[in-house]
Amino acid sequence: AERTLVLVKPDGVRRGLVGEVLRRVESKGYTLVALEMRTADGELLGAHYAEHEGKPFFGPLVEFMASGPVVAVVVEGHRAIEGFRSLAGSTDPTSAAPGTIRGDLGRDWGVAVTQNLVHGSDSPESAAREIGLWFPGLAPA
Ligand code: ATP
Repeated sequence: AERTLVLVKPDGVRRGLVGEVLRRVESKGYTLVALEMRTADGELLGAHYAEHEGKPFFGPLVEFMASGPVVAVVVEGHRAIEGFRSLAGSTDPTSAAPGTIRGDLGRDWGVAVTQNLVHGSDSPESAAREIGLWFPGLAPA
């Protein structure tokens, strides 16, 4: 089975949507392998979002992600990476399809698309890298 890193971002935690996100993940049939709530620091977030360094939204994104606790979850299941991205919906919550986490629960609060409730790894390579960053002690699958 494949693993992916899911984050409930600070907006999701503040709005009380942790249970709703996890309910959708579990209802889909995926397994929660590890779970932790923490407030991430700039070092972790800089590494997590290294591919976006230098982009105009990088600073605001890291600042937002450090603004409160996130819930980090390792999710496992057949094709879980693609499956969770499908559950999450497209990046911009205004245009994300109804039925998805971002489409059902998110909207543009006047802060571009930075606050979009969740993160999910986008490839097996990113998943391995991100799981290593957030859960350095976790035994490999
Ligand atoms: P994630 O990787 O978090 O699941 P994603 O793959 O849909 O999201 P990416 O393009 O990888 O989106 O961007 C990572 C995150 O950066 C987005 O989820 C969003 O929070 C933020 N972001 C992306 N593009 C913009 C933008 N143009 N303006 C502001 N924030 C952005």
